[in-house]
Amino acid sequence: MMRIGILGGGLSAVTLNRFLKPESEILEKEDRLGGLCRSFCTQGFHYDVGGHILFSKDAALMEAVKEVLAGNLNYCRRNNQILFKDRYVKYPFENALGALDKEDVYDCLITYLKNENPKPRNFKEWIYYTFGNGIANNYLVPYNSKIWKEPLENMELGWVERVPRPPLEDVVKSAVGIETEGYLHQLHFLYPATGGIEALVTAMCRPDAQVITNYEIKKLKKSGRKWLVSDGTIEREYDEVVSTIPLPELVSCLEGIPAKITQAVSQLRYNQVRVVLVGVNHEGLMDKSAVYVPQADAVFHRLCYMGYFSRANVPAGKSSIIAEMTTWNRHALYQVPDEALVERVIADLERLGFLHKNEVVATEIRNFPYGYVVYDLDYQRLVGCLRDYLQSLGIQLLGRFGEFEYINMDEVIRRGKRLAEQLNERFAANNG
Ligand SMILES: Cc1cc2nc3c(=O)[nH]c(=O)nc-3n(C[C@H](O)[C@H](O)[C@H](O)COP(=O)(O)OP(=O)(O)OC[C@H]3O[C@@H](n4cnc5c(N)ncnc54)[C@H](O)[C@@H]3O)c2cc1C
Repeated sequence: MMRIGILGGGLSAVTLNRFLKPESEILEKEDRLGGLCRSFCTQGFHYDVGGHILFSKDAALMEAVKEVLAGNLNYCRRNNQILFKDRYVKYPFENALGALDKEDVYDCLITYLKNENPKPRNFKEWIYYTFGNGIANNYLVPYNSKIWKEPLENMELGWVERVPRPPLEDVVKSAVGIETEGYLHQLHFLYPATGGIEALVTAMCRPDAQVITNYEIKKLKKSGRKWLVSDGTIEREYDEVVSTIPLPELVSCLEGIPAKITQAVSQLRYNQVRVVLVGVNHEGLMDKSAVYVPQADAVFHRLCYMGYFSRANVPAGKSSIIAEMTTWNRHALYQVPDEALVERVIADLERLGFLHKNEVVATEIRNFPYGYVVYDLDYQRLVGCLRDYLQSLGIQLLGRFGEFEYINMDEVIRRGKRLAEQLNERFAANNG
């Protein structure tokens, strides 16, 4: 009987386990499953690792997600805003030009229509080429610089198809004040009615799943035809392993790694996410789904209103915001102590008019070492080299940091199911 070890216990791992026919076991270093899809609670305020909403271009997949959540669902319509100069402008920016001052509308529209930017070679040039100088300078460049913490000219083009391009008609309509909506695939989204986004992981997990928590994988090696996995104390044995843990963590568990692999893994660019929950003593922070904050002097790039996704996320009579910040080990924000960052977030929220300091009744900060894959100019070379090497050892890779790709929950679910089907076929073939 084939036995599969699933390294890591996030959404990709529970999805794979759900659809696998051979016996499998999930090994997770934290005290519970969920990874980036965990939800947390302090003083009755529930929050996720940044806003986690369920949407997809794949309608069949969304139907399957609904079935898994079995009625524990809120149907929401996006109300995202961008804080632009002194006002809120609907998201996406290019669908709300009519809300800007006339000079800004003119600047955005004329440079969109008369766009002479050359064919792009990097992400920054792509923004100018696709949207024109006005939209780029006013919003897309400042906002993207904040989230990626990497000069945009150092980012490649391989991933940009996930940023939808607006139809010309929509940009013109929006400039003259006719209502349009962009990014239609996420205009309507789902969110669990109770339990935060972690409810999806709980629902996806088979009731009879074999799960070992508090098991931090430290060693992985092949012995004959078996894989041996160890946390430094207890060794476990499998016929196959699928790794959903971040590539740098996986490589550090292996012995006898060639120098070029160690070097490649040390050069991978990714951002940590720091999340600050701020609960207030009134219901005023529930009218929007999220606010995008391109201003360079505000520490956060995005704010999510947890009570908008579900009233169950906030105590009666109260509401909350979560502030998201990205950083990495060469960025100043990396060193800022937790307490100082919470204070800075509250000060920025007050200065920008979101709340008054004396309304705050709860705060909590959490840091997640792996948040966003950054597609710098070395991405293809480094990730290609690592994947080839790990696959040559016979290790299957899965998930956002397992495969090292900027993928969301829908794609994680799709890939988890697809890999399960491939392994099921191999299992069936081996059994005659
Ligand atoms: C700020 C933010 C907002 C997001 N918003 C959305 C959204 O709105 N909609 C959407 O669809 N997606 C969103 N996502 C993406 C979504 O979170 C991911 O696609 C998904 O959670 C990835 O699941 P995973 O299982 O691949 O990885 P992970 O959740 O990272 O799981 C990996 C697991 O491996 C474990 N692990 C690591 N090292 C070890 C070790 N040595 N031993 C054992 N276990 C280990 C970790 O603890 C973790 O549980 C967002 C992500 C972020 C960061």
